[in-house]
Amino acid sequence: MTQSMGASWGIQPLLERVGGTIPIVGYLQTIMGVDSINIGWALPDCNAHAPDEHLHLFPRHRSAGSFLLVHSMTPRPSASRYPAWTSAVDPAPGDLRIVQAFVNTLDVQDDEELWPTPEDLTSWLVAWDLVDREAQLTDTDREDAIRFREGLRQLLLTNAGHDVDAGAAGDLEVVLETLPLRCSLSQDGDYRLVGDREGWPGAAARILTLVTRAMSDGTWARLKACRRDTCLWVYYDTSKNRSGKWCSMSGCGNVMKARAYRERRQIRDAAAGSR
Ligand SMILES: [Zn+2]
Repeated sequence: MTQSMGASWGIQPLLERVGGTIPIVGYLQTIMGVDSINIGWALPDCNAHAPDEHLHLFPRHRSAGSFLLVHSMTPRPSASRYPAWTSAVDPAPGDLRIVQAFVNTLDVQDDEELWPTPEDLTSWLVAWDLVDREAQLTDTDREDAIRFREGLRQLLLTNAGHDVDAGAAGDLEVVLETLPLRCSLSQDGDYRLVGDREGWPGAAARILTLVTRAMSDGTWARLKACRRDTCLWVYYDTSKNRSGKWCSMSGCGNVMKARAYRERRQIRDAAAGSR
C-alpha cells in the first residue's frame, strides 16, 4: 500500500492514525471473508459531509492510480475461494455465522472443497481471524479440520431432525479427544476454550467456544444442515416454529417432497401388484 501510494504521488506517504467508521467494511469481512484496505479520496480540509464540502479532483485521480497499483500488486484469492454465498444465505446471528461458514466450506452441490491443501485451510482460517497470519498448518491439521467439520455437520443434521452418519459423528469425538484444550474463565463471568497450541488447536477451540455458547443461548438448535444428499448446506432456520428441514423449500424442499411422493407411490404400486 505504502509502495503504491509512493509510486502514484511521487512521495512516500506520511502514516498517521485517524478514526472513522465505514460499516460495509465489517460486512465484507464477516459475510464475504475478505480483508479490506481503504484509500483516502479527499484531503483533510475538504469538510466531507459538512457545510462547504469541496472535493479536489487531483487527489481523486492520484488515489485511483494508487488503487490500480495495489490491485495489480496484490495476489488475489480466486473468486470461488471466498464466495459471497459462504454465509450470505440465511446467515446465522453474530459469530455463529463463523461456524456456519466453517461447515459450508464443502460445497457438495458444486463438488468444491475450499481446503484442498493445508495452505488453503490456513488462508481460510486467517481470513476469518481464527489463526495468526504466520500459522503453518499441516496435512494432519487439514485431516482433523475436515473430520471436525463433517462431525459438526452431523450435529446440524440432527438439529433439522434428520438421520446422521454414525461414523462421522464418532470422528468428531475422536478429534475432540486429541485436541489440547483448556477452559479459560474471565472476571466478567464469561468463558472461552483455549487451544494449548496456536494454529489448528487454537482455531478449533474458538469454533468450539462459539458452538457451546450457541448451545447455551438457544441459537444452536436453529442452525441446521439440509438432508438432500447433493446439498448438505448449512442454513439458519428463521421459521417461527423452528420446523425448517431444508435449506430452501422451493429448492431442496420441493425435490425431497417429490422424491418421498415417488417412493410412497412405488411402495403402494408394489403392494397393489403383489395382491
Ligand atoms: Zn438443500
